[in-house]
Amino acid sequence: MLTFPKNAPPAFHLLAKPTGAVCNLDCTYCFFLSKEMLYPDSRFRMADELLETYITQLLESHARVPEVNIAWQGGEPTLMGLDFFKRAVHLAEQNKQPGQQILHTMQTNGTQLDDEWCAFLAEKGFLVGLSVDGPRELHDVYRVNKGGAGSFDQVMRGWRFLKKHGVAFNILCTVHAANQEYPLEVYRFFRDELETEFIQFIPIIERATEGFLPLANMGWSERPGGERPLYTQTGNLVTERTVDAVAYGRFLNAIFDEWIRNDVGKVFVQLFDTTLGAYFEQYSLCIFSPTCGNALALEHNGDLYSCDHYVEPDFLLGNIQETHMIELVASEQQRQFGRHKLDSLPQYCRACEVRFACHGGCPRNRFIETPDGEAGLNYLCAGYKLFFNHVNRPMQIMANLLRQGRYADEVMGILAQEERAKFAGIGRNEPCPCGSGRKFKQCHGRK
Ligand code: SF4
Ligand code: SF4
Repeated sequence: MLTFPKNAPPAFHLLAKPTGAVCNLDCTYCFFLSKEMLYPDSRFRMADELLETYITQLLESHARVPEVNIAWQGGEPTLMGLDFFKRAVHLAEQNKQPGQQILHTMQTNGTQLDDEWCAFLAEKGFLVGLSVDGPRELHDVYRVNKGGAGSFDQVMRGWRFLKKHGVAFNILCTVHAANQEYPLEVYRFFRDELETEFIQFIPIIERATEGFLPLANMGWSERPGGERPLYTQTGNLVTERTVDAVAYGRFLNAIFDEWIRNDVGKVFVQLFDTTLGAYFEQYSLCIFSPTCGNALALEHNGDLYSCDHYVEPDFLLGNIQETHMIELVASEQQRQFGRHKLDSLPQYCRACEVRFACHGGCPRNRFIETPDGEAGLNYLCAGYKLFFNHVNRPMQIMANLLRQGRYADEVMGILAQEERAKFAGIGRNEPCPCGSGRKFKQCHGRK
């Protein structure tokens, strides 16, 4: 029986990378590809012995909670082959604690999925995250294969197998310079064409120092005979692929406006759910929590890092083959990593009207100055302010509905009624007073 160290959290999230950073695609913005350089002589395959150690320790570490998430990510985890995941599921079933529920999740680019894979994923109840950046013309800008060709067709093939076998899946969409101006095209594609109910938006922010910027702009994959930078969270410049902060806020607002009118209770956008949670002081996403430190990353050789975004030497906690993972998770180094999120919050954030929902965002993106010159403001601050202020009133309405024991989706009827009253008497062909530039009938008037 495991003895829990004093500071051990009852649960934590661990992303395991069985192939390290190795991937069959070559997405231009994916700085994780450069992490191969941390393990120059490796074959990048998690050994069977380590797999057993990992699963056993993870289940033991979660003995005090009813559910444990076994989460696979990459690189591209499917490159390990199906047998590896069959062993993983078998080991989890063999070693689970009495009464313990196991949730298997996997983040994939979808290109390797076929009938055999998806039959297995469906049978074992996997929740699959599929990486798609929007319709073909937006997806293919950066999500390319090793030959530089767009991966859209391969990904859609994988999506069809997921649908065919009824695998539970969500869409993970990165937001970057190429799709930031097309929020509704992206959202409607996921909702109407891919028929997904769960969507995550992840902003692409690639930091670089002045010296590294030209190289970083070329991407992070291996270049024969060429210089290749190892990505670290340093520098206060960003690549040309990086999302613009204000554009990110506008992107989220446009999708929120579509969602709040039509899709509450039908489509689940992670950021919208997380924001609603903040009105109850519940924080399900580390980025918007007051502190962090409970979302770690495991490399293919057992090295445990503080966070998936800090797979770099200064944030290596140890190796689970030498020290039990719960010791590393509870270590002073890791607890301090989590507290730093709060301790380093600039005064500007402490006084911010939306701090309760934002908490300064992720520390990795805190590399600009506040208006009064204090260091450590989040690069996305302008976008966060736009978003959290824009959604405040509908969020309050939903929070109040929930407090009354009613359903949050009643907000759609309330807002529609308000709009009808506000816009009463406006002709269907007149310009919409909301400022969209469209005719009233094409905008609010279409209800
Ligand atoms: S550093 Fe950022 S991504 Fe990592 S655990 Fe903290 S908030 Fe989450
Ligand atoms: S919106 Fe900006 S100022 Fe406010 S808490 Fe977030 S990062 Fe800080």
